[in-house]
Amino acid sequence: MSIRLKGTPASPGVSIGPAFLLNIEEIRIQKRNLRNKEEVEAELDRFRAALAHTRMELEQISDQVSDIIEGRQLIEVQILLLNDPSMISDVENRIRNEQVSADYAVSRALYDVLERFSLIEDSYIKGRAIDIRDVGKRIMANLMGTEQEALLNLTNPVVLVSRDLDPSQTAGLSRKQLLGIVTDLGGSTSHTAILARSMGIPAVVALKDVAKYVVTGQTVIIDGIHGNVILNPNDDELEYYYKLKERYNIAEAEIALNAENPAVTADGIDIELSANIEFSLEADQVRRFGGNGIGLFRTEFIMLLTPEAEDDEEIHYRAYRHVLETLNPDPVIIRTLDLGGDKFLDSIPTKEKNPFLGWRAIRICLDRPEKFTRQLRALLRAARHGNGRIMLPMITGYDQILQVRVMLEDIAAELDREGIPRGEIPPLGIMIETPAAVLGIDLLLPHTDFVSIGSNDLTQYTLAVDRGSPYVSKLFDSLHPAVIRQIDIVARKCKEVEQWVGICGQMANNPLAIPLLVGFGLNELSVPLTLIPDVKEMISVIRMSEVKTIAKKALTMKSGNEIRNLVFDYVKSRYPEIILDEIHRERNDGEN
Ligand code: PEP
Ligand code: MG
Repeated sequence: MSIRLKGTPASPGVSIGPAFLLNIEEIRIQKRNLRNKEEVEAELDRFRAALAHTRMELEQISDQVSDIIEGRQLIEVQILLLNDPSMISDVENRIRNEQVSADYAVSRALYDVLERFSLIEDSYIKGRAIDIRDVGKRIMANLMGTEQEALLNLTNPVVLVSRDLDPSQTAGLSRKQLLGIVTDLGGSTSHTAILARSMGIPAVVALKDVAKYVVTGQTVIIDGIHGNVILNPNDDELEYYYKLKERYNIAEAEIALNAENPAVTADGIDIELSANIEFSLEADQVRRFGGNGIGLFRTEFIMLLTPEAEDDEEIHYRAYRHVLETLNPDPVIIRTLDLGGDKFLDSIPTKEKNPFLGWRAIRICLDRPEKFTRQLRALLRAARHGNGRIMLPMITGYDQILQVRVMLEDIAAELDREGIPRGEIPPLGIMIETPAAVLGIDLLLPHTDFVSIGSNDLTQYTLAVDRGSPYVSKLFDSLHPAVIRQIDIVARKCKEVEQWVGICGQMANNPLAIPLLVGFGLNELSVPLTLIPDVKEMISVIRMSEVKTIAKKALTMKSGNEIRNLVFDYVKSRYPEIILDEIHRERNDGEN
C-alpha cells in the first residue's frame, strides 16, 4: 500500500525513483532474512567484528580525552555498555533464532531498549538512553560501513531520504547521483534546501517522520512543487506523477528559451537579475542561465566542502579568482563567511541552545580575526581579476562595518609590504537580515556601499520562526505583512540616499513575491542559478506601473494569505499555471 506524506516544498520539480536512506539514527533498518546456518554464522562473525571495531574506536577516543575527566567517564560508560553480556546475547539470539541480519538485529535490540527507557521518569536513567543510542549507532555504522561511502559508489541515481542533512553532506554529492532530497527536518530556507535548488533537483523537507517509513530501494515519488512525497506508489499515482513531471518539464523548457533575453518588465523597465551560488564552479553557468552577475556567493560552502580551506588562503583565492574572472566585467557579490546557525565546522564548536541567535556570521568573523583575515586577504588578492564586491552577513550595528573597513585597510597595507599583488579594496556592502538593520538602516547607510536584503533570515528573525524547524515551518512566511513592510522601508530609505538595494533571499524566486519586490523598487533580484529563467519570465509579464500599485496595496493588507491572493489575482493567466496555481493553492490550504 502506498504511503502519502506532506512536507514543505524546498526545491521545485518532480522525480520518481528508488530511495536511499542516509543516517541510521532512529531509522528502521530493512529486514534481511538469512537462508541457512552458514549465513547465520557469517552474521554472528560480522556482529562480533563490529563490536571489536567499536571497542577499539571508543578506547582511542578515551585516550584522546584522557585529560578531560567528564569526557573520559562518558566514554567509559559507553565501553561498559558495549561489553554488556545481556546486550550481546540479545543481539546474537535474534540473529540465531529469528535468522535476521546483524544490522536488523542490532536495530531492533536498540529500539526495544530505548522504548523501555522512554517509559522511565528518572532523568538520570533517561540520560543513559543517549549513551545507549550512541553506542548502538557506532555498532551500526561499523556494520554497514559508512553510508556516505555507499552513496558515493551508487551507479544509479536515487532519492536521498534522511532525518536531517548537513549542508556538508549534501555538498559532497553530485547531481548525477541524486533524483531528489527528502528530509524529516529542515525548512524551505535551510541550507540543504538552498543547495538542492542550486543543484536543480527537487526537494521536500519538514516531513517530520518520513525516514521512519522508508526502506532503501523502495520507489518514491517526490513532488518538490507541492511538497508531496509518496512511498510505494500505486499505478494510478505513478501515472499521475509521470504526467505532472512531463507538464512541469515542458513548462520549464519553454521558459528556458528566454534565458538569452534581458530581464525587463512588460512596460520596458530593466531589472538586474543575478545568481546565488554556493560553489565557484557554478559561476561557469550563470550566463547560460541568463544571469547578469552574482548577487550572492555563499563562501562558507568552500569550507564546508573542503575543510582544509579553513587554514588555506590559496583555496579561497583560487575560488574567488575563478568566479571573478569568469563573470568579468559583470558584478560579483562575495559574501564573507556565514558560519554558525546551521553551518558548522569542527573548529567552531558551539553548544548554544539557539545557534541562529548566537555565534554566527560576522560575529564569528570579528571574534576570530585570524580566520577572517585569511578570507579578506584572499579577497583582496582576487579583486584584481574582476568586478568584485564584499558583503557582510547578519549586520546589526555600524561599528561592525567600520571594524571590517579597518581590517581591509590593514590587510591591503600588509599585502603591499609583502609585495603581493592585489586589487583595489572593493565596495563593501551589508545584508539586511535583522529587524535591527531595518529599523536602524539610517545609521548603517552612511557606512555601506550597497545593501542586499536577506529575506530568509529577515523572516526568521522578524517572525521568531526558526527557518530550519519543521514544527513551525507553516509560520515561516516571507509575505507576512511584518516582513514586506520592512522591505518597503529598506527600499524607500535606500532610494532617499540613492543607495543600490538588492534582495538575495529565497523570496526573490517566489512567483507571488516577485511583483511586490519589483513594485517596491528594488534594483536587483538574486536567485538560485537554475531558477533565473522562471524569475525572468515573471518579470517579463508584469508592468512596473501596475506592480507599484499592487505593492502599495499589499502594505495595507492583514495577512500573508491576503497578500498572496492579491498578487495571484494579478499574475494569473500571465504565468504558467502549473507553477502558480499550485504554489498558491498549497500555501492557502496550509495556512489558517
Ligand atoms: C538570507 O538570509 O536571506 C540569505 C540570503 O542568506 P542565507 O540564506 O545564506 O542565510
Ligand atoms: Mg542569511
